[in-house]
This record gives sequence, structure tokens and C-alpha cells, in this order.
Amino acid sequence: MPQVLWQQTLSQLKGRLSATELGCWVQAIHPVEIRERRLYGEVPSVMHLEQIRNRLQGEIAGVLEELLGSGAELVLSVNRLRVQPVVDPRPAAAEATSRYGFESFVIGESNSLAHASAREVANHPGVTYNPLFLYGGVGLGKTHLATAIAQSLAKRPRLRIAMLSAEAFANDLIRALLTGAIDAFRVRVRQLDVLIVDDIQFLAGKERMQEEFFHTFNALHAAGKQIVLVSDQAPRSISNLEERLQSRFESGLTTEIRIPEAPLRLAILASKAKGLGFDLSLEVAQWVASRVVSSVRELEGALHRLVAACRCSRRSLDVGFAREVLRPILRTPPARTVEQVQRIVAERFQLRVEDLVHRARTTRIRLPRQVAMYLARKGTKATYEEIAAGFGGRDHSTIMHAVKCVEARRHEEPEFAVLVDQLAEKLASA
Ligand code: ADP
Ligand code: MG
Repeated sequence: MPQVLWQQTLSQLKGRLSATELGCWVQAIHPVEIRERRLYGEVPSVMHLEQIRNRLQGEIAGVLEELLGSGAELVLSVNRLRVQPVVDPRPAAAEATSRYGFESFVIGESNSLAHASAREVANHPGVTYNPLFLYGGVGLGKTHLATAIAQSLAKRPRLRIAMLSAEAFANDLIRALLTGAIDAFRVRVRQLDVLIVDDIQFLAGKERMQEEFFHTFNALHAAGKQIVLVSDQAPRSISNLEERLQSRFESGLTTEIRIPEAPLRLAILASKAKGLGFDLSLEVAQWVASRVVSSVRELEGALHRLVAACRCSRRSLDVGFAREVLRPILRTPPARTVEQVQRIVAERFQLRVEDLVHRARTTRIRLPRQVAMYLARKGTKATYEEIAAGFGGRDHSTIMHAVKCVEARRHEEPEFAVLVDQLAEKLASA
């Protein structure tokens, strides 16, 4: 039994390797079989393979020789369907894995639903939301949340979990097709208890992959196994994705991660600065949060730049210095256009741009149209006349009236104000 041998090997290695070496690398090895004094094992990534080969293979082979006799060795291969197990929370190991855990995920309006549903899936896999479909723009924390689910579930001993990108799924599938190992591939995938696929939009336009994924999905779903899918767009918006997949994908819960709102950006900066042991003043944090608006990844990038600059120059960080340091990455935003506003508002209210622009007077369209006019006034450089022209040649007093109505309503209805602010943020980062 490879598992038994491997357990013995691990317990012998405990005294000889550090907690990090064991937790991050060795425990990620999955024993597959023993043949002729060779233990064959699988690891989840090429990085694992290299780290183990370069630093740890000798030590492991030493233990195997004690157990199997001289000449024993470990033969590793990469199998991306294996997720790295999370190990007991010893400090080193915890540090290595919690960067993408729930603990380090900062919650705000724009991601709280996504976070709550990810938590729910991690607590009750296969029960409440199946599949969970998470989508949103680049650098907003989708992979972070998906990884947090995987890590949290990996703490349960007998659960078979795989997290991989749709591209890795496709590559494994192609390899299986080429080597005639398609049945083994199917068996392997369908034995999983949890399948998490990142960047599922990669399947767009790839019919053979979609076909195979459709069957994988059905087999796992019918067996009550948890499926989590991550994408840059909602299922219906992924073009060249078969209708039957779109409808499967939205048959559970679909949640969006939106662009982080200002308070969340500030909270993320504070949390990351604290993690780096970096003293960031509120004033500078607010300034950065007001200039870097469209993704968390960019916020992190800005912070790292500031930290590096301060450590090199030993200057203390004020807004002036921050401005200097970040100048190369802060593009002056290109001017927004009335058409951009119309597209964003139409998308949000699920209307066609023509409906907003042209004269239809239905009440359903009146509010979205007024919001679009308001945003065109506040978020672009267009004059009242230019905006009026962009809305089918109305009178400019119509635009002024719309702006007043939206302003009044903002004061009366906090939810409406939030909606308008979200649209404004979307425009600012378009
Ligand atoms: P996506 O997959 O949506 O493109 P990632 O999950 O890779 O984005 O996130 C980009 C970076 O931003 C990562 O370093 C991630 O840890 C960080 N990040 C995103 N959202 C949050 C958040 N709410 N709290 C803390 N870090 C976050
Ligand atoms: Mg990602």
C-alpha cells in the first residue's frame, strides 16, 4: 500500500525536515504506487516538482531506503488535478498558505455577497449553492476566493478536491485524448468531491472541451459533488459558450465581485500595509485609494512600489512623495464619453443602448435614462448641449431636469445613491 509506506516516510521525515519543507512541499506529494523499490508520487505543480527535486529528494530517498532497502527512490510527476493540502496550522505552514485564505480577504460592499457564498460553500460543500459561479473583472479577488474555498475544504481529511484553471483542464484532456487515456481521465475527474475551475471563460469557442466539461459537470452534479466556477463574465455573457453549459452554470448561485468601492480600497490598503509591517498614514492611504480605483491587484502593486521606494530612499512617505513614486503607473484617465455612459447604464439595467437614447417614454426606461444623463453630466466633460445631442437630439433643459431629479432621489434613497455611485465607479475605471 503506497499510502501506508508514505505515512511511515512522513513520520520519519518529521525530525529531519523543517515545518515549512514538510508543510509546503513534502505533504503535497500524493503516493500513487510502489513498483520495484520505487515509490511513484504526484505533485500539484511544476514548482513543487522542482523544489522537491532540488532540495528534498535526497532526504526522502534516504528514508525510503531505510524502509524499502537500498536503491529505493521517489519518482514524481505533476498532476494538476491535485490541490495542495493545507497542513496543520504551524506558524510557517500557516503563513505559506493563508495569503489566499478567507482570513486575508477584506470584505466590503462590492464583494460581500461573493465572500458569503464562498464561505457557505466551504462550510457546506455540495449542499447549498451548486454550482457556485463567481464572476467579475480582472484583479478583483476571484482566484483568491476560489483558493480560499479549496484551502478551507482541504482541512477535511477525506475530501478529494481539485482546483485548476480551465486551461489546465483542457491541457489534461488533450493529453488524455492523445495518449488514449481518456477513460482514466474521466474516472479521475469524476472521483472528485469538489471541483473548482478558474477562468472558465477559456472554454469559449472550444467545442470539444465544452462537450467533455458538460459531461464532467453533469456527473459530478448528479452525485451531489460541489462545483465552483470562476469567470470574468456572467454565464450568459460568455460568447461562444453552448447554451446548455450556460444554463447549467447558472443553475446554482451566480455572484459578482464588483470593482472595490472607496472604503474597501482603503481597508485593503490598510490590511496589506499591516501585513507588510509598513506604516502607511491615513492621508496617504486615502490619496492612493482615490487614485488607484479599478482593481485590488493594482492597489497591491501601488503599495509595493511605495514600500520599495521608502525603503530605498529612507524618505518618509507623504502625499507628495507618493505622487512622485506612483506617477509612472497612474495614467491620467482618458476622457469618458457619453456613449460609454450609455453602454454602462444599459448593461446595468439590462436594456439596449437604443432604448436609452431614443424616444420611448415607458416608465421602465425613464429612470435608467435619467441616470445615464446624470452620469454623462458628472462623469464626462460633455456640455449639456453635447449630452442632449447624444440622447437623440433632445432639448438641453431635459438633461438639466434629469440631473436635478437624480440628485434629489439620491438624497432620499440611500440604495439608489449606492447604485449611482457604483455606476460612476464603473465609468471611472472603464
Ligand atoms: P482575479 O482572480 O479576480 O483576477 P485575484 O484573486 O488574483 O484576482 O486577486 C488579485 C490580488 O488582489 C491578489 O493578490 C489577491 O490576494 C488580492 N485581493 C483581491 N481582493 C482582495 C480582498 N478583498 N482582500 C484582500 N486581498 C484581495
Ligand atoms: Mg484570477
